[in-house]
Amino acid sequence: MPFEIVRNDITRMRVDAIVNAANNSLLGGGGVDGAIHRAAGPQLLEECRALGGCKTGEAKLTRGYRLPCKYVIHTVGPIWRGGSEGEEALLAVCYRNALAIARQQGCDSVAFPLISAGVYGYPKDQALRVAATEIERFLQEADMMIYLVAYTRDAIVPDARLFGEVAAYIDDVYVREHRDFGREARRSQYLRDGAPRGVPDPGSLFRRPHREDNARNETVFSEANVERLTALQGETPEDAQTRTAETFSEMLIRKLEEKGMSDMACTARANVDRRLFGKIRNNAGYRPAKQTALAFAIALELSLEEARELLVKAGFSLSHGDKRDIVVEYCLINGHYNVTSINEILFKLDLQPLGY
Ligand code: ADP
Repeated sequence: MPFEIVRNDITRMRVDAIVNAANNSLLGGGGVDGAIHRAAGPQLLEECRALGGCKTGEAKLTRGYRLPCKYVIHTVGPIWRGGSEGEEALLAVCYRNALAIARQQGCDSVAFPLISAGVYGYPKDQALRVAATEIERFLQEADMMIYLVAYTRDAIVPDARLFGEVAAYIDDVYVREHRDFGREARRSQYLRDGAPRGVPDPGSLFRRPHREDNARNETVFSEANVERLTALQGETPEDAQTRTAETFSEMLIRKLEEKGMSDMACTARANVDRRLFGKIRNNAGYRPAKQTALAFAIALELSLEEARELLVKAGFSLSHGDKRDIVVEYCLINGHYNVTSINEILFKLDLQPLGY
């Protein structure tokens, strides 16, 4: 997974380089800067002294000393002054300069804090947008594992509108799927008539349904359904037959061609390692993990029905018993095809991200 939001203390990240949200003096400060200097030890400060400070937006390299990483890339984010003083451009350039140094050093993995989002007061949701945009842009043409490290779950503030819509959808699905009319009838009868004989535990009437109830809600896309739908879409029965015999890889490649999307563009959009495409192209029987199949469904901008078809080919289904599936289902229905924003929401909900 080339880009991942993780919850951790950045000083514990086992990566080639961590990025420090420093101040202009580079002589240490509070927040993440203080934590990095404490963990790295006094030699880091010594090396920083020799660097002669750092302008806002620029980035400078030091060794990692006692930290588990090889390098620290120090960059100075802008102080938030309301947004009209070029803050966004300056913050973007911090990510670009830090990533350029990481690339020059041949780093395979880098961890960023959310620069400027602490004492410097940059609104967290906007700081996250800038970070995600710059990281995504960089990954379109580079191979690197980039972590955005959130010290607390509150540090990540996804787009409020999409998050609200997804949360409401999860709630709706949950209420709809877990209504048990039999139980509701028994409950009203109980309230009206008192406990019937043979029901010693009235509390059970109010319990959540058993987990197995969810199994009924799995929406498996049967071959019969595939054929019916393709017929509706004007395909010949032969076309439809070929299509149902198609493997996951074959369907993925067909969709790429239909959409005119390159392998590179698709890997970046799906948050998957570029090398994976070799496997997909060379092995018609390739079976991805579910998080990868879901990521491709989003990256390829599939409809809900197409996504279900692709998932079945990998041996999966979209289940209302799985919150992450509900999030993805909502996004497919409503045309939200940005894996990065979806992963922000999944992180916030403490669910596993999409990609490979
Ligand atoms: P700035 O001055 O650029 O705002 P801060 O250090 O105050 O820098 O905060 C930047 C971000 O780093 C904030 O989101 C803060 O919560 C986070 N942060 C602070 N300490 C750590 C840490 N040890 N690991 C990861 N993130 C941290």
